Amino acid sequence: MIVLEAQKTVAARVHIDGVGLHTGKPVRVTLLPAPSDHGIVFRRSDVTDRDNLIPARFDQVQDTQLCTVLVNGAGVSVRTVEHLMAAFAGLHIDNVVVDVDGPELPILDGSAEPFVRMIESVATVGQRPPRRAIKILKRIEARVDDKLAALEPDDGFAIDFEIDFESRAIDRRVGSYEITPESFGDLLSGARTFGFRHEVEFLRSRGLALGGSLDNAVVVDGDAIMNPEGLRFDDEFVRHKALDALGDLYLAGAPIIGRFIGYKSGHALNNRLLHMLFADRSAWTYVAAVEDVPAQSGAAWAEAGVAAAER
Ligand SMILES: [Zn+2]
Repeated sequence: MIVLEAQKTVAARVHIDGVGLHTGKPVRVTLLPAPSDHGIVFRRSDVTDRDNLIPARFDQVQDTQLCTVLVNGAGVSVRTVEHLMAAFAGLHIDNVVVDVDGPELPILDGSAEPFVRMIESVATVGQRPPRRAIKILKRIEARVDDKLAALEPDDGFAIDFEIDFESRAIDRRVGSYEITPESFGDLLSGARTFGFRHEVEFLRSRGLALGGSLDNAVVVDGDAIMNPEGLRFDDEFVRHKALDALGDLYLAGAPIIGRFIGYKSGHALNNRLLHMLFADRSAWTYVAAVEDVPAQSGAAWAEAGVAAAER
């Protein structure tokens, strides 16, 4: 049975502690329920002398060299938001205040899985009015050098990604993922950040990646993987790039109905693609998001959603 999909928020306040990848400092992230049509908004609770609210939107993105950084008009920023954004995208969370007591989200295990577990530990509630989505109407593409990021019309949401690295540990890999709340956990959420040993050493020399370790990233040295436990997936690297793209695209402010195609793409190109999409009003339209639910549970779902929205 096809029904309009409810907006969702977290059912209760929940938090997770970790360290920032670049600062190496402890940081706590607390999710708070938010009303419908609120969107996802970061709040730097350690900043009290200026506007500390930072909407999770593509046009707030500034630096995308190493991670995705959001900045508000008062110059207050929060970095490394992409894995939490991917968890929100994957689980269809629309409205939440993300309290962060420092400049950077915790890296945790380098994947989105700890964020997914945090959200699932409190469950979600449906809200009215229904969710709206951005339907892609024509192909939009961003290119730089040999890298490509594109969006095409599609019935659902899918990511096609290809990477091509000289290191034989990473290699050329192609992945194609149909993303739903059911498939996200198995396909992408556990894929970890990766980097090269020489890059990590260079970043450290500049005072970055101070929290980085083999506990929160896959580190590649030449053709070898340094992590003693090896990989979680045979093609973990391309899955992580798809996870990053999922998080970056959710900065559109609504879920996308379309197919993302990435070739060696990264945070900067993913962000440029969103700017190009929104600059072309004929390339997309808002539609009501729908979901396919078992006929039996449909009525119960609708009642639960309405009840939650009216609380
Ligand atoms: Zn990442």
